[in-house]
Amino acid sequence: MRPLPPGSKIVIASHNPGKVREIGELLRPLGLHAVSAAELGLPEPEETGETFEENAIIKARAAAEGAGLVALADDSGLCVDALDGAPGIHSARWGGPEKDFRKAMETIERKLHERGAHSPEQRKAHFVCALALAWPDGQSETFRGEVHGHLVWPPRGDKGFGYDPMFVPEGHDVTFAEMDPREKHAMSHRARAFEKLLAALAAAREGA
Ligand code: IMP
Repeated sequence: MRPLPPGSKIVIASHNPGKVREIGELLRPLGLHAVSAAELGLPEPEETGETFEENAIIKARAAAEGAGLVALADDSGLCVDALDGAPGIHSARWGGPEKDFRKAMETIERKLHERGAHSPEQRKAHFVCALALAWPDGQSETFRGEVHGHLVWPPRGDKGFGYDPMFVPEGHDVTFAEMDPREKHAMSHRARAFEKLLAALAAAREGA
């Protein structure tokens, strides 16, 4: 991977200020300055990919080309084994325009019930986060993080977001929404993808 020297600006291809701030904090120790796609007035491209990686690359490339700077994008979601990986890349969409994830969780539960999935083994699921780094000339690199577990019903806890209240990570008894957020953030799909990205950025610098 090409090195990103300290002092480089990097566009975060997201219009979510919370996400941009959090990513900016993770990149700061490497001397990288995060600017958001919204700040630069960049439009959000349509996510037409069929995988998390493809969608992350679409977003990162659009921002890199629009800004003429290196850009970072993420794409994430929940994959349920018994539902052939659904909702997967459509995880955000299942919440509908009103982003109602209680309803999205009910849809998952109904489908699991229809398939007779009752035991933790039959209710296995994992969160995925794909990060894509793209250069203005079109080159890109992706990094994937996953956290595996199973789904419970009814949903429990009020700390997280999205599908957190029904997801119990492997080796734990509590859902992501019942956990201290610091504990979730230490083991999450996003944390694991970022670990890989930061390691690759550091290695690229050492090799430069
Ligand atoms: P994205 O913003 O297009 O990556 O959409 C990701 C969607 O996946 C979100 O709207 C959530 O519903 C779901 N999701 C991703 N990560 C998490 C998580 O850590 N907890 C719960 N839901 C998540």
